[in-house]
Amino acid sequence: MSYEFRTGEELLALCKQENLPISAVMLKSELEREEHDAETLHEEMRKNLLTMRHSVLIGLRDTQVTVSGLMGGDAELLYAYADKALCGSRTSRAAAASMAVLEVNASMGKIVAAPTAGASGVLPGTLLTCAEDFSWDDEMLINALYTAGAIGAIIATNASISGASGGCQAETGSAAAMAAAALVELSGGTPEAAIHAAAIALKNVMGLVCDPVAGLVECPCIKRNAIGAANALLSADLALAGIRSVIPFDEVVIAMKNVGRLMNSDLRETARGGLAATPTAKALRKKLGLHGAEQE
Ligand code: SF4
Repeated sequence: MSYEFRTGEELLALCKQENLPISAVMLKSELEREEHDAETLHEEMRKNLLTMRHSVLIGLRDTQVTVSGLMGGDAELLYAYADKALCGSRTSRAAAASMAVLEVNASMGKIVAAPTAGASGVLPGTLLTCAEDFSWDDEMLINALYTAGAIGAIIATNASISGASGGCQAETGSAAAMAAAALVELSGGTPEAAIHAAAIALKNVMGLVCDPVAGLVECPCIKRNAIGAANALLSADLALAGIRSVIPFDEVVIAMKNVGRLMNSDLRETARGGLAATPTAKALRKKLGLHGAEQE
């Protein structure tokens, strides 16, 4: 039999038919498509996990100075504040870890683009923080990366994971959807609940534009990863509580794609609209000696 899938519905059908979690179906699908054996794939995923962990550790331990000098140190600030946080310690630590990865990225450090560099904080931030609290081991986390990968692959196949094509909904929204599904599986939820979590996460950033200040993946990207982490955690909790997305995941993905198409190009990574077009952003751009369309 084939483990190929293009949609959430097809993925769920395979999970049900084989009585497997999403991670196992994704692994079998990868083995079908790739020339590598299970051991090699496992080693690649283990390396991804180690890189993710390293980027979180470095980002939280050392103050990162971003290329522009505009940002850096916010991850440490939030981590230090986490015990007093209104949204609770775990969510704040996950958000801080997510920001840490983005700060490392903006400082030219090594990260895993999951699904992109601009949205690389959400998955490691949430998974590794919860792993500490719930004692999830690396084997569980590696499996969870396959679950996240399945969601990302479906979105990339049927819509987009690129800010230039679909706005930030396609980047940090996809990252939150991937993380939410992975968190549900790690927490013992069903594949169906994981898919609903992904739908909920994506729905709630529908229409989010890509408007990087001065064209740099710093502001608002770093903070959007923090909010993406909170989105993933709450979406996972909603699904684990038994709440379902009224609009099925596959339809949410298509809706997101259509919203991306409706977005003016000024709102898709060109740094000509949204926050990038504010007086402060224009002044920062000028100060940094960067030139853009809005300065013409
Ligand atoms: S604002 Fe644009 S560049 Fe920044 S994270 Fe979102 S999609 Fe990526």
